[in-house]
Amino acid sequence: MQKLSKPRIPAIACPHCQGRAIVRSSETFTPLYRELRLRCEDDECGHAFVASLSVIRTVTPSQKPNPSIQLPLTTAANALPPRAPANDDMPYPANDIGSCGPEVPLPAANDTAPPVTPLVAEG
Ligand SMILES: [Zn+2]
Repeated sequence: MQKLSKPRIPAIACPHCQGRAIVRSSETFTPLYRELRLRCEDDECGHAFVASLSVIRTVTPSQKPNPSIQLPLTTAANALPPRAPANDDMPYPANDIGSCGPEVPLPAANDTAPPVTPLVAEG
């Protein structure tokens, strides 16, 4: 007997309150790029926003391939960025807060990030 499961509602965390935001509508621009309109379910927040959904790589090739879709074939293992060594190769002392090496800026956590360039199908 097949186990029945509830259909999953597409949702992500609201960037402001971290509450659940659900997809209200979407618009397809290309076979590889879609924009989603979401609304935070927290009534006190009420944030409505647009997110993008891009197809970026193939994990298992299609059995009905579209020749106009060109995606890199990767596995989970080779798609991950290289990891830093977990040893003492770092030349900076780990216990000296005043001189811990070059400043690395944190990624912006607001809406000032540059817009995502949509992927365009070739062909
Ligand atoms: Zn919210």
